[in-house]
Amino acid sequence: MHIQTIELLSGTPGTQQSLQVLRFGTPGARPKVYIQSALHADEVPAILVAHHLAQHLEQAQVEGRVCGEVVLVPFANPIGLGQTLFGQHQGRFDLRDGGNFNRGYPELAAKVADKVRPLLSQDVQSNTQCIREAMLAAVEGQIAANTTQDLKKQLLKLAVDADVVLDLHCDTDAVMHLYALTPQAATAEQLGAALGARAVLLATESGDSPFDEACTRPWLDLQKLLPEWPIALACFGATVELRGEADTHHAMAEQDAQGVCAFLAQQGALRGVPDSTRSAQCVPTPLSGSEPITAPHAGVVVFHRNPGERVLGGDVIADVVDALTGQVTQLRCKSDGLLYARCGSRWAVPGKRLAKIAGTSLARTGKLLSP
Ligand SMILES: [Zn+2]
Repeated sequence: MHIQTIELLSGTPGTQQSLQVLRFGTPGARPKVYIQSALHADEVPAILVAHHLAQHLEQAQVEGRVCGEVVLVPFANPIGLGQTLFGQHQGRFDLRDGGNFNRGYPELAAKVADKVRPLLSQDVQSNTQCIREAMLAAVEGQIAANTTQDLKKQLLKLAVDADVVLDLHCDTDAVMHLYALTPQAATAEQLGAALGARAVLLATESGDSPFDEACTRPWLDLQKLLPEWPIALACFGATVELRGEADTHHAMAEQDAQGVCAFLAQQGALRGVPDSTRSAQCVPTPLSGSEPITAPHAGVVVFHRNPGERVLGGDVIADVVDALTGQVTQLRCKSDGLLYARCGSRWAVPGKRLAKIAGTSLARTGKLLSP
């Protein structure tokens, strides 16, 4: 294992933050796998899985079983990891401006289409190489005006030319689930099976440019922008939600690390991984069919259903209780599906999303992810 340190742009004299990058295998070899943990900083189950995964990868390296290159960033967000407000960790949003650390990554297809157009041919592999170089150059050419912008730039620079990108997060109170691109449903299903995911949510664009889509969607967009040339979907990416934020258990994290290794073996990145193929626990469903259960007014939230439970349209998911008026509002879901995540606090304000259900009967449009 080689440990690389990347110094981030310092916004304040006397301060310096850095990224630590663990590298396994042969630099430049293929397939290249990029894995990062806790882009929302305090999503610690992802950091624990990185800890277990690093041990598996080190062992694989010693035994010569890493086929290409694996790049692992166990703490993807040192800025957020250092943010506390009134004693509470704040890892999701940048306290400087409120920006979500997993939104607003560049749309690279538009930046590279004109540059690669004269260089493409009927050779799909040579086109992949050419597009990867152009995307790397586009990321390197970005000007970072502050530490957060530099963090986003450095992470994308590590990932954008990879064959596989896994962005490890967790939800608040949830079962294992993941997000990926619709045309990559088959690989997403493989990853879901390897991890025991209970929901696999697919979209061609989920809105506000999260990190994994900055790596995967350019290939899809370039296919549309340059239809005269053969262009592969050369990067599979997924955002993996490793259950809820309190779910830090060694046995579970070890099982998740083994699941990641089994998936990497299926992708040709590792050899000699025991075949632990598990059957899929769900079929992928559209992210547009994910139903948020939203509070209509303020009050105390009392859940009737737990993460991992199958629900039917019309089931009561939660009550919102107004102790002043005595009003108890029952919140029912519209879709059949799997309740895969709930909020953490039991106090609701109007419009707050209390739970999410992976269903198939809704067709939401616009921005599909939580803010
Ligand atoms: Zn997250």
